[in-house]
Amino acid sequence: MMVSELRCVLCGTSYSPDDVTYTCPRCGPAGTLDVLFDYERLREITSPGAISASAEPSMWRYRSLLPLDAAADVPPLAVGWTPLYEAPRAASALGLNHVWVKDDGRNPTGSLKDRASALVVARAMAEGIEVVTTASTGNAAAALSGLAASVGLPAVIFVPASAPEAKIAQLLIYGAHVLLVQGNYDAAFDLAVEASERYGWYCRNTGMNPYTLEGKKTVAYEIAEQLGWQAPDVVVVSVGDGNIISGVHKGFCDLLALGWIDKVPRLIGVQAEGSAACYKVWQQGGDPATMKPINAQTVADSIAADLPRDRVKAVRAVRETGGAFVTVPDDAILDAIPLLARQSGVFAEPAAAAAYAGAQAAISAGHIQPDEQTVLLATGNGLKDIKSAMRVAGSGYPVAPDINEVEKARAALGLPMVK
Ligand SMILES: *Cc1c(COP(=O)(O)O)cnc(C)c1O
Ligand SMILES: [Zn+2]
Repeated sequence: MMVSELRCVLCGTSYSPDDVTYTCPRCGPAGTLDVLFDYERLREITSPGAISASAEPSMWRYRSLLPLDAAADVPPLAVGWTPLYEAPRAASALGLNHVWVKDDGRNPTGSLKDRASALVVARAMAEGIEVVTTASTGNAAAALSGLAASVGLPAVIFVPASAPEAKIAQLLIYGAHVLLVQGNYDAAFDLAVEASERYGWYCRNTGMNPYTLEGKKTVAYEIAEQLGWQAPDVVVVSVGDGNIISGVHKGFCDLLALGWIDKVPRLIGVQAEGSAACYKVWQQGGDPATMKPINAQTVADSIAADLPRDRVKAVRAVRETGGAFVTVPDDAILDAIPLLARQSGVFAEPAAAAAYAGAQAAISAGHIQPDEQTVLLATGNGLKDIKSAMRVAGSGYPVAPDINEVEKARAALGLPMVK
């Protein structure tokens, strides 16, 4: 493993990976840690060519760039190496020339969170951890439950009782120990931290555990590799806690440090209007470390966060890449579900469709120019939240089992006769 240090984003103190597990002991929860590598040494042992020659159809094709011992076992589920679809009809609808959709809803438990949980579970196995825990709005919990189930590791999950049914069903079906918190995500988060301190469980909480981001950064590696080891101009990412956008940033920064790409894309962070803490601090030129919690409300449960846990890295990702934050109302998020699905074939949950709505907003605001290569990150599967999808799906046309009724429907729906 080529990790050289863990460095606090606030005070810059450098720690050995053996000395700290979660955040900076001096700075507390806002002092998240960057996992830094010996890039020179990495350049000697691996290369884009070696990776592209790999037959491994998962995130583990990038194993040499991950903080995991070379001999460590990894969970058997196939996480990552998801398709990057060219989406010409989405492009023309958006008024852009080149759009791709990265379909991370294809992961084993249906969201990008599997990348984080796969790495955390692999590390837990290597360290002989007996119990893992996390708080989650749903997807991180499903990911940890699924990945833990794949290796027989007990998982304790703190999830808001209000999470969408399909997400809670996933946890229970995977056999996780599910605590339905009568409170929001932030309450669940704090409870998971307390429980992990009291009982010694290994905590996967987003942002607090430095390795979730390291798993998620593989999505950036994939985008670059799938574009022929090139960075696109812009990546549009929905933001709740800000861990995904920070992971995307880290992934491209790693590749730049290795000299494998020649630029880092501008990152556009998309927040729901009712959950826009990062947007506000960015817009005001403020300091994310001292941000106050808001009262987040949005239909896109996966991006609802009162106090985004990875706010420092998320705002840094946007500032350093010259990107922007945009906000989108819930109506636009819901409308984006059928638009994205009909223009690309990718059915996304609200928080993932938010990337499409955010692209619309970013284009109107002049943050994306028509000829820029733009990747929309579809972070979670549409089947995760059928209730929201049904609000904008429209309805089917009822017919009796009689071809004359079909004929009436055909005429009403304006379907062509093509014989
Ligand atoms: C978690 C999640 C996000 C947001 O990721 P953060 O790291 O919380 O910013 C977006 N979309 C989906 C589907 C998610 O599960
Ligand atoms: Zn610090």
